[in-house]
Amino acid sequence: MSKVVKFGGSSLASAEQFRKVGDIVRSDAERRYVVPSAPGKRFDKDSKVTDMLYACYELAEAGKDFREVLEAIRARYREIVSGLELSVDLDGEFGIIEKNFQAKAGRDYAASRGEYLNGIIMAAYLDFEFVDAAEVIRFDGNGSFNAEETNRVLAERLGACRYAVIPGFYGAKPDGEVKTFSRGGSDITGSIVAKAVLADVYENWTDVSGFFVTDPRIIENAKGIDVITYRELRELSYMGAGVLHEESIFPVRQENIPINIRNTNSPDDNGTWIVGSTCQKSKYVITGIAGKKGFCSINIEKDKMNSEIGFGRKVLQTFEENGISFEHVPSGIDTMTVFVHQDEFMHKEQKVVASLYRTAKPDTIEIESDLALIAVVGRGMKATRGTAGRIFSALSHANVNVKMIDQGSSELNIIIGVANDDFETAIKAIYDIFVLTNL
Ligand code: ASP
Repeated sequence: MSKVVKFGGSSLASAEQFRKVGDIVRSDAERRYVVPSAPGKRFDKDSKVTDMLYACYELAEAGKDFREVLEAIRARYREIVSGLELSVDLDGEFGIIEKNFQAKAGRDYAASRGEYLNGIIMAAYLDFEFVDAAEVIRFDGNGSFNAEETNRVLAERLGACRYAVIPGFYGAKPDGEVKTFSRGGSDITGSIVAKAVLADVYENWTDVSGFFVTDPRIIENAKGIDVITYRELRELSYMGAGVLHEESIFPVRQENIPINIRNTNSPDDNGTWIVGSTCQKSKYVITGIAGKKGFCSINIEKDKMNSEIGFGRKVLQTFEENGISFEHVPSGIDTMTVFVHQDEFMHKEQKVVASLYRTAKPDTIEIESDLALIAVVGRGMKATRGTAGRIFSALSHANVNVKMIDQGSSELNIIIGVANDDFETAIKAIYDIFVLTNL
């Protein structure tokens, strides 16, 4: 048996947090591969080391004095090392980092040092082997992640060590240039490592006890989710449910390795299990509700649109040519509505509308802004009658006007468009009817 355990920034923000992590890893000999993030915030107004590194590098790149910020970063690590009573000396590493910053080694290199240094400390603290991610996580020359090559190299390298620490977030291109994933990318590294070693489970340790049915900032004491499928999670995280990087599902999913989200500050909680499929029914008809504000709808009308072959292609091609991705395209007989991110669309608006008139020759185009999309997701919906009916009656009772409805044929989710201002009220209404009332 082997487990891959990834710890997020808040789990590694101080020596005290490191100790909790140490206890967790040591309490189970199967926790063999550890993927650390960089130190996160110790308190609300604190800075994440990754943000400090970006800021520091910006100064270096602009030819300004960056030593003071680098010194503050060094102090963060010093505090951890001395708090753990380790004899790790990072002076040599900081000397190299300073030189590389002066030589403008790149923003990704700069950011990656947060995980790299934490990895060195973690390996010393646990007495595990340190495996630099730059040697085993491979990107191609264009900066795209090279999954096959990585899997081969990682499997071989980790096959040779029983216990190892592999820093999250970064890897390297064939020429050795460091490249990072997008922010929060240590989650992806954890998943890649789990796939390479064919782990029995990928434990992702953070500062909450798993996923909540909805955002606890909207619903205080929102209920937790015990088991969720990859597909449900994909829908929810795409629509804004945080906790896990949305791309981290893919590597483990290929091997059907479950992810267990756990809380470093409350290690006895079971957390949330993310699995391929399950016969376990969720407690409620719905598994989760997530959403995002800031969408715009472009409503295109044309008489007899339904019989015009190629109309949809012309419309979507216009968006493509303007580099705008679309979110949803509900359509009627003579109408087609395209939902896009407002900030992507806003500054190209007139150009897009003009080219829509030119290519698709519609009768009218209307734009509505400040919309929110809410996804109600649940594997249980397929087998339950009346889910949509309950959602819409709850929304009508809450005086929320529904602007758009989109249900995928998978019956896994229902997407609802409402005004930005109705977003919180709508989520509360849906939560109440399915979770609190749970009829
Ligand atoms: N340290 C990086 C960030 O803050 C990556 C991570 O924590 O996963 O985004």
